[in-house]
Amino acid sequence: MGLHEKDKVRDSLLDDVFASADLSTSLSKYRLPDREHDPRHIYQVVRDELLLDGNSRQNLATFCQTWLEPEIHRLMEDCIDKNMIDKDEYPQTAEIESRCVHMLADLWNSPAADNTIGCSTTGSSEAAMLGGLALLWRWRKRMKAQGKPADRPNLVTGPVQICWHKFTRYWDVEHREVPLEGDRLMMTAEQAVEYCDENTIAVVPTLGLTFTCAYEPVREISEALDRLEKDTGLSVPIHVDAASGGFLAPFVDPDMVWDFRLERVKSVNASGHKFGLAPLGVGWVIWRDKDYLPDDLIFRVNYLGGDMPTFALNFSRPGGQIVAQYYNFLRLGREGYRKIQQACYETAAWLADAIGKMGPFEIIYDGRGGIPGLCWKLKEDQDHPFTLYDMADRLRGRGWQVPAYSMPKNRQDLVIQRILVRHGVSRDLASLLLDDMRRALEHFEKRPVSIPMTEKEVGGFKHS
Ligand SMILES: *Cc1c(COP(=O)(O)O)cnc(C)c1O
Repeated sequence: MGLHEKDKVRDSLLDDVFASADLSTSLSKYRLPDREHDPRHIYQVVRDELLLDGNSRQNLATFCQTWLEPEIHRLMEDCIDKNMIDKDEYPQTAEIESRCVHMLADLWNSPAADNTIGCSTTGSSEAAMLGGLALLWRWRKRMKAQGKPADRPNLVTGPVQICWHKFTRYWDVEHREVPLEGDRLMMTAEQAVEYCDENTIAVVPTLGLTFTCAYEPVREISEALDRLEKDTGLSVPIHVDAASGGFLAPFVDPDMVWDFRLERVKSVNASGHKFGLAPLGVGWVIWRDKDYLPDDLIFRVNYLGGDMPTFALNFSRPGGQIVAQYYNFLRLGREGYRKIQQACYETAAWLADAIGKMGPFEIIYDGRGGIPGLCWKLKEDQDHPFTLYDMADRLRGRGWQVPAYSMPKNRQDLVIQRILVRHGVSRDLASLLLDDMRRALEHFEKRPVSIPMTEKEVGGFKHS
């Protein structure tokens, strides 16, 4: 380097990030730039852009984890290079996944945890897809064995999360979603049976509905299907979508029977990244017995070395989430999970009581008996100077996400608002939200909304 260039180098090393040549112009947004940039500068820009995202801790809409112990952050960093699919290269990550499967089978009272089979997924959506496929394959095989047509499968559910709509559409399965009626905002045993016939691949009750947070009555549904079998010979299996409940009920309500204690429950999915307290990107699906996962759905790969069975939609996937899930299991044990979930339940019930007392709201689910959360509607016998969409929009101004949305058919007329209380939503944070809700009510009293907002204007809502 010529001596005369030294000053130029010195300048660029000492430049303030925002005074640098990189950042004194607007960076390329939709076209890959021609030249490279200083990592320090680009890190700053990307980070700043993320400021415009919502603050996840104030997102009371999501079921997913937004607070994680520092040790989990470290393990995620330690695992950044681990591809969980490569079981030959990372046998210990594979072993840890297998331990998690067995712990879950045991937690969900599998009668023969040894003979149980299951795997991690990217979340409950992939887990539901795998669970649904196994049911579809088994049903087809049974119909063919009986010499019957196997081209018109159907699936019976209550008001389910979107993943089941995807499953039925992608695989051309008729979706028999039991319509809601009046105050009945879920599928009950009576309807489940009514919608079944010999083309039903399964009934899928949800342990923790995304719309109201309530549990569908798995045990009653199972008993009703037992009676159906006794009367007609028709045997319909159950898959439980326990995305949330799978990590709640075993800890806070261990006597509630919804899991493999029911003979008819053949498979269960749950989201590790929801009440499993793992970071985003892990779910689980478990079959009560190897027999319920048809062999022709399992692929064996050997080109990474070894002979590895895999059943998954993805191939390469990060291993960190699985390792973090295992960390949680060891770190918390049943005691730790119970304490965390119990604290959430108490805060949810406390919030429901406080919001019920505010005046305009009628509590639909009060945080007791389902997921730690709550939901409400506007009282029907009064006029209100706002809609729940206006309330959601007003709270958004303070950073809170408290979604308002309409129910599925036949109660699309019913608009409700919901709060999820999860790990990290402390009593103190909840009381700050209550203050903001009261301020919003005062605002609407003084300045009634003349043209109310609609669901379309607030952009709809996805139940994640
Ligand atoms: C969240 C949720 C899903 C989808 O799970 P992901 O882990 O987000 O893929 C499915 N079913 C229910 C009941 C849920 O709450």
